[in-house]
Amino acid sequence: MDERRILIVEDERTIADSVADRLRAEGFTVRTAADGPAGVAAFERERPDLVVLDVMLPGFDGLEVCRRIQAERPVPVLMLTARDDETDLLVGLAVGADDYLTKPFSLRELAARVHALLRRQDRAAAAERPDEPVLRVGDLEIDRAERRVRRDGAEAHLTPTEFDLLAHLAARPRRVHPRDELLAAVWGWSDGGSGTRTVDSHVKALRRKLGPDLIRTVHGVGYALDVRP
Ligand code: CA
Repeated sequence: MDERRILIVEDERTIADSVADRLRAEGFTVRTAADGPAGVAAFERERPDLVVLDVMLPGFDGLEVCRRIQAERPVPVLMLTARDDETDLLVGLAVGADDYLTKPFSLRELAARVHALLRRQDRAAAAERPDEPVLRVGDLEIDRAERRVRRDGAEAHLTPTEFDLLAHLAARPRRVHPRDELLAAVWGWSDGGSGTRTVDSHVKALRRKLGPDLIRTVHGVGYALDVRP
């Protein structure tokens, strides 16, 4: 059983209760808060390992909660949004959430996202070796010194840009990377515009070379690297 703590900040009682029940059934210790100020207070008091955070909250909203708790201590945040376009907006604001789930969502999907975020954090903690040139994520191996990539032992031949894009995605697996962020990080473009199509075409190339299941499209937002643990 996983005894880690999860804080749910959600003012809709039925959603908060059903999410809490599901996460308790998964073995987590769960606390809930129903508005912004109570959420921040509960975060300071309970020191959770992960926060499930609704955007629209009384007091102050989920964006403000996210800013305050992330300023205090980095913690995975799964943001609950009302609509896809709200997710787009939040990603644009770079509020610091690690993943987004649009309502209505299935409890199974929510539990899967929670486990994925915690696994990613565990791996990051285990792999904190800044001098280590070889990045391993699931069955993917990225040698940053030699600029070589293998998946499941088989070498893939990537262009320099494809390599940089993959390395950027793999540095923070499962995190949703907006197209604009990728353009800035990999291509050095500060203004996205039609350049986002460039990102799309490179992702397509990586999928062709490394398998279609490697990079997940987050509709209207960007991409995340998903690999088998
Ligand atoms: Ca709400």
